[in-house]
Amino acid sequence: YAKRNGGATFAFFEPRMLGDAREQAELLRDLRHAVAGGQLELVYQPKVHAPSGEITGAEALLRWHHPQRGMVSPMVFVPLAERHGLIVSIGQWVIDEACRQARAWRDEGLRMRVAINLSVHQLRQPDLAERIAAALQRHQVKPNLLTCEITESAAMEDAEGTRAIFEKLSAVGVHLSIDDFGTGYCNFAMLRRLPAEELKIDRSFVLDLETSADARAVVDAVVKLGRALGRKVVAEGVETEGRAQVLRALGCDVLQGYLYAKPMAAKALALWAMNDVGPRAMEFSASLFQE
Ligand code: C2E
Ligand code: MG
Ligand code: MG
Ligand code: MG
Repeated sequence: YAKRNGGATFAFFEPRMLGDAREQAELLRDLRHAVAGGQLELVYQPKVHAPSGEITGAEALLRWHHPQRGMVSPMVFVPLAERHGLIVSIGQWVIDEACRQARAWRDEGLRMRVAINLSVHQLRQPDLAERIAAALQRHQVKPNLLTCEITESAAMEDAEGTRAIFEKLSAVGVHLSIDDFGTGYCNFAMLRRLPAEELKIDRSFVLDLETSADARAVVDAVVKLGRALGRKVVAEGVETEGRAQVLRALGCDVLQGYLYAKPMAAKALALWAMNDVGPRAMEFSASLFQE
């Protein structure tokens, strides 16, 4: 019942469908074989330049094609993997697959910056930066084609540890983004010292943008803060033109959401990037990556 190539017709096994302990145990048992069984896939959602609408990159989002249940949402299986020590190996597959895909696109003439999501457990791996550097090397991908998204709450679980790993990742040359920004506990001292290029405003603020003066004030403040600190500000979960308009007016740099595109298979993303905005997208993304 779940369509395999992404798009609007995913039928997800959602968190509310998680039943009793036995069902969880079954899911966990199956999850242990998901990587080796080739059941994982990355789908990609465009990130677009707010003023022009041109693509600046894509976020890789994990999908699990369960042989019986169909598509299982990452909101279900990522937390399960985190609780049971599976997220590091799954995360390693994500790192490798994203690099492989970036390389494959590059070979097709599409220079696409790919953003991956890192779990807090991966942040605690002492050799994370080396693993990422090795994957980039393995696939011959330039580090500036990769962005690592780390949620604000994960980043703040161990602030000093996070700072150390951010410095290492930054030295490798990958970009860093603080995901779901505004929902965690990042303080200004920490923010000032973290070498993250990007602040990604949480969807909840974007959702309320047209109806809540407070949400708008928060976004306004984050954009100004980002500006002042020399960070790019990204908004996730942009579903309507009205919200996009507000975000552009507030000076948000990059927008991402269903208004532009849902996450899609790698092939579809390449077509989207080329058809939707044509050769200008290629020029534009090339201009971003002048080395
Ligand atoms: P996230 O990193 O904050 O990703 C954004 C989520 O919002 C994605 O859900 C995306 O499909 C969804 N989304 C994008 N645009 C819109 C929109 O306009 N409206 C709405 N309502 N939703 C939108 P998804 O793919 O289900 O992923 C959920 C979360 O699972 C991600 O949140 C991330 O925390 C986690 N996740 C996904 N892939 C990975 C991964 O490879 N590794 C790890 N550790 N976590 C992952
Ligand atoms: Mg993310
Ligand atoms: Mg996010
Ligand atoms: Mg989010």
